[in-house]
Parts: sequence; structure tokens; C-alpha cells
Amino acid sequence: MGKGGTVNTAWISAGSNLGDRRAQLQRGLAALEACGRIIGVSSCYETEPVGNREQAWFLNLALGLETRLAPRPLLAFCQRVELAQGRVRPFPNAPRTLDLDILFYGDLVIVEPDLVLPHPRLQDRRFVLEPLAEIAPLLEHPVLHRSVRQLLELCPDRSEVRKITAGG
Ligand code: ADP
Ligand code: MG
Repeated sequence: MGKGGTVNTAWISAGSNLGDRRAQLQRGLAALEACGRIIGVSSCYETEPVGNREQAWFLNLALGLETRLAPRPLLAFCQRVELAQGRVRPFPNAPRTLDLDILFYGDLVIVEPDLVLPHPRLQDRRFVLEPLAEIAPLLEHPVLHRSVRQLLELCPDRSEVRKITAGG
């Protein structure tokens, strides 16, 4: 944890569909503990690939992180964790050992080329909303003004999302 700065709560989606998916999610969680305090972790979900359908199913989970890192340093930290786990980006939606997306950072709204908060596609993705609704159902989207539970109810995505274990 850094010295200065206030503590904020970030909500993060973690996904893997390449290699030992569960081990990679666990290593991602362990790595994030170095930049804050994890306040909640959803169950693990097995989910159907959405963008590029010709690939393996994912394991996904959501977590809450109290951190003193500002949004950009947190994104940079997440990207270093992805790289440390062998993430390569040969093409968009390629299979990935570990993907860490920042869903919310408090109620901050940012639209920059390399960082958009809240995550611009979270409301369209059942594989993001189902895990997040398990740990933060009442969290309110600062732009859409709906809770995570409401966003899940409204979500048009019908792809499969199956809870597979308790505790992630
Ligand atoms: P995917 O959209 O499949 O998660 P990547 O993980 O390769 O793709 O991310 C692509 C880019 O998305 C990153 O380089 C990052 O700068 C950008 N990005 C914008 N907003 C966010 C966010 N909220 N969380 C994570 N990445 C983000
Ligand atoms: Mg990503």
C-alpha cells in the first residue's frame, strides 16, 4: 500500500481462458493484494466466450479492492500482473491467461483513450454482472444510475454463465 492518497474502492473483473485458469485467477488475486486490501471476492463462474466464439470457455470472478493507487497507476499495476502471467495480445479478443478490467473506481467517471470508467461494456456482459452482483448488488453505476442488480436484470446478453464453486 502506498503512503499518501485516500483509500478508494475499485471493483475489478478477472478472467482467464488459457492454461490453468483457476491458478491464474488465484495468482491474480494474490498479486492484487500487494496494492491494497481485497474486501470481497465472488465465486468462480464458467462462462461462454462472447466476442470471439471460437475459443475456450472462461473462468471469471469479480473482486473489490480498497486501494490508495489512483486509477491510472491501478490500471498499470493490473497490466503488469497480466504480463507477468504471460499475457500476449496477438489480436482483439484473443484467448488470455489473465485479463484484469477495472469496472468501477468509486463513483469516478473518466473517458480517455486508454482508460474508461466505469468500464464501457460492463452493462452488456453477463459474465461481468453475475459475479459482481454476488458481492456488490447495490453498487450504483454513476452514469446509468442503476444498481448492479438492476443492470443484471436489464442485461440483454444471454450467453451462459455458470457458478462453479463458492469463494472463487
Ligand atoms: P479487453 O477489452 O479484452 O479487456 P485488453 O485487456 O487488451 O482488452 O484491454 C484493451 C485496453 O483497454 C487496454 O490497453 C486499456 O488501456 C483499455 N482500458 C480502457 N478502460 C479500461 C478499464 N476500465 N479497465 C481495463 N482496461 C481498460
Ligand atoms: Mg482487459
